[in-house]
Amino acid sequence: MTGRLALTFDDRHVDNWVAARPLIDAVDARVTFFVVEADLLDHREQAGIRTLLADGHTVGSHGARHRNADQAIVLDGPTAYLADEIDPSVQALRALGATASAFAYPNSRRDESSDAVLLQRFKHLRGGGPRTGDPIAAAHAVSPPGSAVRVHPGRGMDTARGDHPHPADADVLSGMLRRLADHGGTLVLYAHDIAASSPANHVHPDRLRHVLSEATALGLDLVGMDDLPHTEGHRER
Ligand SMILES: [Zn+2]
Repeated sequence: MTGRLALTFDDRHVDNWVAARPLIDAVDARVTFFVVEADLLDHREQAGIRTLLADGHTVGSHGARHRNADQAIVLDGPTAYLADEIDPSVQALRALGATASAFAYPNSRRDESSDAVLLQRFKHLRGGGPRTGDPIAAAHAVSPPGSAVRVHPGRGMDTARGDHPHPADADVLSGMLRRLADHGGTLVLYAHDIAASSPANHVHPDRLRHVLSEATALGLDLVGMDDLPHTEGHRER
Protein backbone atom coordinates (compact mmCIF):
# COMPACT_ATOMS: atom_id res chain seq x y z
CA MET A 1 0.00 0.00 0.00
CA THR A 2 1.52 3.24 -1.13
CA GLY A 3 1.96 6.10 1.30
CA ARG A 4 0.51 9.42 0.29
CA LEU A 5 2.12 12.77 0.92
CA ALA A 6 0.04 15.91 0.43
CA LEU A 7 2.09 19.11 0.37
CA THR A 8 0.03 22.23 1.00
CA PHE A 9 0.83 25.96 0.86
CA ASP A 10 -1.24 28.64 2.60
CA ASP A 11 -2.17 32.31 2.25
CA ARG A 12 -1.61 34.49 -0.82
CA HIS A 13 1.91 33.91 -2.13
CA VAL A 14 0.70 33.27 -5.65
CA ASP A 15 3.67 34.79 -7.50
CA ASN A 16 6.22 32.72 -5.60
CA TRP A 17 4.08 29.60 -5.89
CA VAL A 18 4.00 30.03 -9.65
CA ALA A 19 7.76 30.63 -9.64
CA ALA A 20 8.23 27.30 -7.80
CA ARG A 21 6.47 25.30 -10.53
CA PRO A 22 9.70 23.87 -12.04
CA LEU A 23 10.62 22.44 -8.62
CA ILE A 24 7.27 20.73 -8.25
CA ASP A 25 7.05 19.63 -11.88
CA ALA A 26 10.53 18.08 -11.69
CA VAL A 27 9.07 15.20 -9.67
CA ASP A 28 5.61 15.36 -11.27
CA ALA A 29 4.02 16.13 -7.89
CA ARG A 30 0.49 17.35 -7.29
CA VAL A 31 0.17 19.78 -4.40
CA THR A 32 -2.46 22.05 -2.85
CA PHE A 33 -2.68 25.81 -2.50
CA PHE A 34 -4.98 27.17 0.21
CA VAL A 35 -5.81 30.70 -0.85
CA VAL A 36 -6.91 33.52 1.44
CA GLU A 37 -8.66 36.68 0.12
CA ALA A 38 -9.59 34.83 -3.08
CA ASP A 39 -12.20 37.50 -3.76
CA LEU A 40 -9.48 40.20 -3.71
CA LEU A 41 -6.97 38.60 -6.10
CA ASP A 42 -5.76 40.91 -8.84
CA HIS A 43 -5.60 39.82 -12.48
CA ARG A 44 -2.03 38.58 -12.25
CA GLU A 45 -2.83 36.47 -9.19
CA GLN A 46 -5.95 35.10 -10.83
CA ALA A 47 -3.89 34.08 -13.87
CA GLY A 48 -1.40 32.44 -11.49
CA ILE A 49 -4.14 30.37 -9.85
CA ARG A 50 -5.41 29.29 -13.27
CA THR A 51 -1.88 28.21 -14.19
CA LEU A 52 -1.55 26.13 -11.00
CA LEU A 53 -4.93 24.53 -11.68
CA ALA A 54 -3.93 23.74 -15.26
CA ASP A 55 -0.89 21.92 -13.82
CA GLY A 56 -3.27 19.59 -11.99
CA HIS A 57 -2.88 21.07 -8.52
CA THR A 58 -5.67 21.46 -5.98
CA VAL A 59 -6.77 24.94 -4.96
CA GLY A 60 -8.73 25.19 -1.74
CA SER A 61 -9.99 27.87 0.63
CA HIS A 62 -8.14 29.46 3.54
CA GLY A 63 -11.09 31.71 4.36
CA ALA A 64 -12.02 35.07 2.91
CA ARG A 65 -10.29 37.10 5.66
CA HIS A 66 -8.23 34.57 7.60
CA ARG A 67 -10.57 34.59 10.58
CA ASN A 68 -10.14 32.09 13.39
CA ALA A 69 -12.94 29.63 12.63
CA ASP A 70 -13.58 28.49 16.19
CA GLN A 71 -13.99 32.05 17.48
CA ALA A 72 -15.89 33.43 14.48
CA ILE A 73 -18.45 30.62 14.63
CA VAL A 74 -19.13 31.35 18.30
CA LEU A 75 -19.26 35.13 17.75
CA ASP A 76 -21.32 35.26 14.56
CA GLY A 77 -23.09 31.91 14.54
CA PRO A 78 -22.47 29.25 11.88
CA THR A 79 -24.84 30.71 9.28
CA ALA A 80 -23.26 34.17 9.23
CA TYR A 81 -19.76 32.69 9.43
CA LEU A 82 -20.37 30.53 6.35
CA ALA A 83 -22.02 33.41 4.47
CA ASP A 84 -19.29 35.97 5.27
CA GLU A 85 -16.05 34.04 5.60
CA ILE A 86 -16.51 30.89 3.53
CA ASP A 87 -18.96 31.38 0.67
CA PRO A 88 -17.22 34.45 -0.90
CA SER A 89 -13.94 32.54 -0.88
CA VAL A 90 -15.45 29.39 -2.40
CA GLN A 91 -17.32 31.36 -5.06
CA ALA A 92 -14.22 33.32 -6.10
CA LEU A 93 -12.14 30.14 -6.32
CA ARG A 94 -14.80 28.26 -8.30
CA ALA A 95 -14.98 31.18 -10.74
CA LEU A 96 -11.30 30.48 -11.44
CA GLY A 97 -12.01 26.79 -12.03
CA ALA A 98 -11.04 25.38 -8.63
CA THR A 99 -13.10 22.74 -6.86
CA ALA A 100 -12.58 24.60 -3.57
CA SER A 101 -13.52 21.38 -1.82
CA ALA A 102 -10.81 21.55 0.82
CA PHE A 103 -10.21 24.10 3.59
CA ALA A 104 -7.18 24.92 5.71
CA TYR A 105 -7.86 26.44 9.12
CA PRO A 106 -6.35 29.95 9.52
CA ASN A 107 -3.89 29.96 12.43
CA SER A 108 -4.70 26.24 12.85
CA ARG A 109 -7.64 27.31 15.05
CA ARG A 110 -10.27 24.55 15.05
CA ASP A 111 -12.47 22.49 17.33
CA GLU A 112 -15.13 19.81 16.91
CA SER A 113 -17.88 22.40 16.39
CA SER A 114 -15.95 24.15 13.63
CA ASP A 115 -15.24 20.79 11.98
CA ALA A 116 -18.98 20.02 11.96
CA VAL A 117 -19.82 23.40 10.43
CA LEU A 118 -17.09 23.32 7.79
CA LEU A 119 -17.67 19.70 6.76
CA GLN A 120 -21.02 20.96 5.46
CA ARG A 121 -19.06 22.82 2.80
CA PHE A 122 -15.81 20.89 2.32
CA LYS A 123 -14.65 17.32 1.74
CA HIS A 124 -11.37 17.84 3.57
CA LEU A 125 -10.19 20.11 6.38
CA ARG A 126 -6.61 20.66 7.45
CA GLY A 127 -5.51 21.77 10.87
CA GLY A 128 -2.01 22.31 12.18
CA GLY A 129 -0.10 22.98 15.32
CA PRO A 130 3.32 23.14 16.92
CA ARG A 131 5.95 20.88 15.42
CA THR A 132 7.01 18.23 17.86
CA GLY A 133 10.49 16.76 17.70
CA ASP A 134 9.25 13.62 19.41
CA PRO A 135 8.92 10.98 16.66
CA ILE A 136 6.10 9.14 18.44
CA ALA A 137 4.04 12.32 18.89
CA ALA A 138 4.88 13.40 15.34
CA ALA A 139 3.51 10.11 14.02
CA HIS A 140 0.01 11.21 15.09
CA ALA A 141 -0.02 13.49 12.04
CA VAL A 142 -0.07 10.38 9.82
CA SER A 143 -3.50 8.94 9.04
CA PRO A 144 -3.43 5.15 8.90
CA PRO A 145 -3.88 3.31 5.60
CA GLY A 146 -7.48 2.55 4.71
CA SER A 147 -8.92 5.37 6.80
CA ALA A 148 -11.10 7.97 5.14
CA VAL A 149 -10.03 10.83 7.39
CA ARG A 150 -11.55 14.18 6.47
CA VAL A 151 -9.94 16.34 9.16
CA HIS A 152 -6.19 16.15 8.65
CA PRO A 153 -3.86 17.17 11.48
CA GLY A 154 -1.12 18.50 9.22
CA ARG A 155 2.52 19.14 10.08
CA GLY A 156 4.44 22.32 9.34
CA MET A 157 7.48 22.30 7.06
CA ASP A 158 8.38 25.99 6.81
CA THR A 159 12.06 26.75 7.32
CA ALA A 160 11.66 30.25 8.79
CA ARG A 161 9.52 33.30 9.37
CA GLY A 162 11.50 36.39 8.46
CA ASP A 163 14.93 35.93 10.01
CA HIS A 164 13.65 33.52 12.66
CA PRO A 165 14.39 29.93 11.72
CA HIS A 166 11.92 27.19 12.63
CA PRO A 167 13.14 24.04 14.37
CA ALA A 168 15.68 22.08 12.38
CA ASP A 169 13.56 18.94 12.44
CA ALA A 170 14.46 17.42 9.08
CA ASP A 171 15.37 14.13 10.80
CA VAL A 172 11.90 13.82 12.34
CA LEU A 173 10.23 14.43 8.99
CA SER A 174 12.56 11.96 7.26
CA GLY A 175 11.53 9.34 9.80
CA MET A 176 7.86 10.09 9.16
CA LEU A 177 8.35 9.75 5.41
CA ARG A 178 10.12 6.41 5.83
CA ARG A 179 7.27 5.13 8.03
CA LEU A 180 4.79 6.31 5.41
CA ALA A 181 6.70 4.37 2.76
CA ASP A 182 6.87 1.24 4.93
CA HIS A 183 3.33 1.20 6.33
CA GLY A 184 1.22 3.37 3.99
CA GLY A 185 -1.14 6.07 5.19
CA THR A 186 -1.49 9.77 4.52
CA LEU A 187 0.53 12.74 5.73
CA VAL A 188 -0.43 16.34 5.03
CA LEU A 189 2.40 18.88 5.31
CA TYR A 190 1.98 22.64 5.20
CA ALA A 191 4.09 25.64 4.36
CA HIS A 192 3.35 29.18 3.23
CA ASP A 193 5.58 31.29 0.98
CA ILE A 194 8.18 29.47 -1.15
CA ALA A 195 11.27 31.69 -1.05
CA ALA A 196 14.88 31.87 0.08
CA SER A 197 13.83 34.73 2.35
CA SER A 198 10.49 36.30 3.16
CA PRO A 199 8.97 38.26 6.05
CA ALA A 200 6.21 35.62 6.09
CA ASN A 201 6.45 32.00 7.07
CA HIS A 202 8.29 30.39 4.19
CA VAL A 203 9.93 27.22 3.04
CA HIS A 204 13.32 27.64 1.38
CA PRO A 205 13.24 26.26 -2.17
CA ASP A 206 16.24 24.02 -1.37
CA ARG A 207 14.33 22.48 1.54
CA LEU A 208 11.24 21.95 -0.59
CA ARG A 209 13.36 20.35 -3.32
CA HIS A 210 14.88 18.05 -0.72
CA VAL A 211 11.52 16.92 0.69
CA LEU A 212 10.16 16.33 -2.82
CA SER A 213 13.14 14.25 -3.86
CA GLU A 214 13.16 12.33 -0.57
CA ALA A 215 9.47 11.47 -1.00
CA THR A 216 9.97 10.50 -4.63
CA ALA A 217 12.92 8.25 -3.79
CA LEU A 218 10.74 6.50 -1.18
CA GLY A 219 8.02 5.91 -3.78
CA LEU A 220 5.41 8.05 -2.02
CA ASP A 221 2.45 9.38 -3.99
CA LEU A 222 2.63 13.17 -4.05
CA VAL A 223 -1.03 14.11 -4.19
CA GLY A 224 -3.30 17.13 -3.96
CA MET A 225 -6.11 17.23 -1.40
CA ASP A 226 -8.64 16.59 -4.18
CA ASP A 227 -6.90 13.27 -4.84
CA LEU A 228 -7.56 11.98 -1.29
CA PRO A 229 -10.46 9.65 -0.55
CA HIS A 230 -13.27 11.33 1.34
CA THR A 231 -16.12 8.90 1.80
CA GLU A 232 -16.52 6.21 4.41
CA GLY A 233 -15.82 2.80 2.97
CA HIS A 234 -13.79 4.16 0.08
CA ARG A 235 -11.57 1.34 -1.08
CA GLU A 236 -7.90 2.17 -1.09
CA ARG A 237 -5.77 0.57 -3.75
ZN1 LIG B 1 -2.76 31.39 6.92
